[in-house]
Amino acid sequence: MEIKVIRKILEAGSKVAETNRKILKEKGIISFNFIGAPGSGKTSLLLRIIEALSDKYKIGVIEGDLATTKDAELIHETGVPVVQINTDGGCHLDANLVGKALEELPLDRIDVLIIENVGNLVCPTAFDLGEDYKVGVLSVPEGDDKPEKYPVIVKVSKAIVLNKIDMLPYFRFDKEKFYQPIKRISPNTPVFEVSCETKEGISSFVNWMISKINQKGGEGK
Ligand code: MG
Ligand code: ZN
Repeated sequence: MEIKVIRKILEAGSKVAETNRKILKEKGIISFNFIGAPGSGKTSLLLRIIEALSDKYKIGVIEGDLATTKDAELIHETGVPVVQINTDGGCHLDANLVGKALEELPLDRIDVLIIENVGNLVCPTAFDLGEDYKVGVLSVPEGDDKPEKYPVIVKVSKAIVLNKIDMLPYFRFDKEKFYQPIKRISPNTPVFEVSCETKEGISSFVNWMISKINQKGGEGK
């Protein structure tokens, strides 16, 4: 019985996801859904992306968090339109919540929408929000075993970011062990080694985003 209920919610959610997708398409917006554990550096990455992209594209952000507006405040300081979704303890965003957030954003003035999901490596991977691309954010301090232990993030991500590479000297982190399951599960998924502290690798990842934006015909508004 419980499984039936969950399936119904997912089905309803997927219809709303299609509605979100349609709205974004009509507005010519390319969207990215960033998924990663708490502390993997999703917000720091967003700030670096805004820094690198905002002279070329108009960015909008949806911040998913359990309770606070801390991350949204950091984004707001950059001048980028941001809507906070507080899930009130819920461990992922769903299409309904994102649909409501879309109503609050100035969509006519956005080329690129970035969604920061709730810090969680597991269930956000199962929810279609209507986004174009899921991006998995992992980091060195989390350990080299994460792709192997959480294969679903590898499977659903169109790109994987390995953040905090400036921490490599301080952690026992075997890159071979990290890359091996990715190559097995998603051999064509690009992995970007970045540091939001030193900015190393940020431009490579941003260039991947730009290539996806251009692929969809986003020319900037
Ligand atoms: Mg954050
Ligand atoms: Zn969840």
